[in-house]
Amino acid sequence: MSRQVQLRNFVAGEFVAGTAVFDKVSPVDGTVVAQVHEAGADVVDAAVKAARAALTGAWGRSRVAERAALLRRIADVIEDRADDLLRAEIRDTGKPEKQARELDIGRAALNFRAAADVIASAGLDSFLTELPDGRRALNYAVPKPLGVVGVIVPWNLPLLLLTWKVAPALASGNAVVVKPSEETPSSATLLAEVMAEAGVPDGVFNVVHGRGPGSAGEFLATHPGVDGITFTGESATGAAIMRSVAPHVRPVSFELGGKNAAVVFADADIEQAVDGLSRSIFTNTGQVCLCTERVYIEEPVFDSVVAGLAERARELRLGDPYAAETTTGPLISAAHRAKVVSYLDRAVAEGASVVVGGGIPDLGPDLAAGAWIEPTLWTGVDNTSTVMRDEVFGPVAGLVPFTGEEEAIRLANDTAFGLAAAVWTTDLDRAHRVAGRMHVGMAWVNTWYLRDLRSPFGGMGLSGIGREGGRHSLGFYSQPTNVCIGLAAGPRPGEHGWPAA
Ligand code: NAD
Repeated sequence: MSRQVQLRNFVAGEFVAGTAVFDKVSPVDGTVVAQVHEAGADVVDAAVKAARAALTGAWGRSRVAERAALLRRIADVIEDRADDLLRAEIRDTGKPEKQARELDIGRAALNFRAAADVIASAGLDSFLTELPDGRRALNYAVPKPLGVVGVIVPWNLPLLLLTWKVAPALASGNAVVVKPSEETPSSATLLAEVMAEAGVPDGVFNVVHGRGPGSAGEFLATHPGVDGITFTGESATGAAIMRSVAPHVRPVSFELGGKNAAVVFADADIEQAVDGLSRSIFTNTGQVCLCTERVYIEEPVFDSVVAGLAERARELRLGDPYAAETTTGPLISAAHRAKVVSYLDRAVAEGASVVVGGGIPDLGPDLAAGAWIEPTLWTGVDNTSTVMRDEVFGPVAGLVPFTGEEEAIRLANDTAFGLAAAVWTTDLDRAHRVAGRMHVGMAWVNTWYLRDLRSPFGGMGLSGIGREGGRHSLGFYSQPTNVCIGLAAGPRPGEHGWPAA
């Protein structure tokens, strides 16, 4: 066996080898950075059975307060292991260190603390029922875990998105089998060590590595012992997973792709808007589901916003993730870059003008085998252009002028996706009016990617099914049994509530 880092599956509290091994290649320079043990159907089956055994054991009888305390311990251990997790995440993705530390690792710990807070304060739905015929009852809904939850996640924010699902799943008393992306297997493997160190019982958290079709992803989604799938990834993959769970009629929670619009009105604070837009277009090399790929700009300020964005794009520094001046990492893989490049070519073929970028940068021989791409802005596109309809998932945006509020709303909503939007304006009435008419799960005004973890997160249309976040997560990760207690006839509640005068 090679001396490369070996990333194994985690089943019933043990690291286990896979049926086959594949290389994980760095998107920074194309070198092999780890060997990943791919879970065959047998390993996935063992993981699902381990999760079921945990549920029928002590974990299935755990109290809410115990689980909340455990989640807080997990958050503490994540913070203790932050440097290891950071290196793992950078090794897989090539993200700049500053971003990985602030965005990815910090949020992982927060996800567990937020879920602990939610479960510790969750009440029961209860109703005192009075029927016209005089019968009375007390109804209350007892939440139960969904059961064995399959967690399938993508590569763009690997640990953040994984913990966003695992935290509420464990808070609600489920056991999970996690399938990280084949592109980002490292932080999920380390999270298994974190779980063990924090005292998570064996079998409650399992990791299976591999790809989607014909591999661990499909084996997990089709396994009859899985009670539900929570998935983040491409809309087309979501459709495939729906087909996989259909024979067993299992619930799904889907956070899928986006083709997010930003609308800039002439009354906006232009400097603030350009600043926010450049973050929303280029953060994580455009590989965040919430990134803006369509920008609609009111005519009078079109030229100044385009010029401001072009200047910001030219200021981005691509390169070594550990260099202090680096702002922007590579795309995740050569395959993903080939897809993004095909969109760059297509945009030009369909008549777009390239304002900035448009190709593959020359970063010298050391990085020549990496998956680098130039941050790119286009004008001369409209909503019929392919790059304004498909999710590119790269550091790109089309910039389009508009006239008046109605046209802006129509253009922004003219998409099959419905994840997020951003509105830039200083007119308070307009802010509420326009944000409320965006056909999306999340509409920001004068900001972007500002998250309160208690608020609902999810998308409409091709962007997903269901909402996660705060108490909204409990809706998917638990299922209620409603208990109805018939009450004896007698005085109605409240009738004798007041002492005699
Ligand atoms: P992807 O759909 O290709 O893969 C996601 C995961 O699904 C991976 O673990 C993959 O191995 C697995 N998978 C693939 N095919 C499968 C199958 N048939 N059955 C079971 N599992 C399968 O997505 P990606 O390329 O890793 O990530 C990028 C996508 O994720 C973008 O579309 C992006 O918008 C989306 N995303 C959405 C959100 C959100 O919250 N809405 C957040 C982040 C990313």
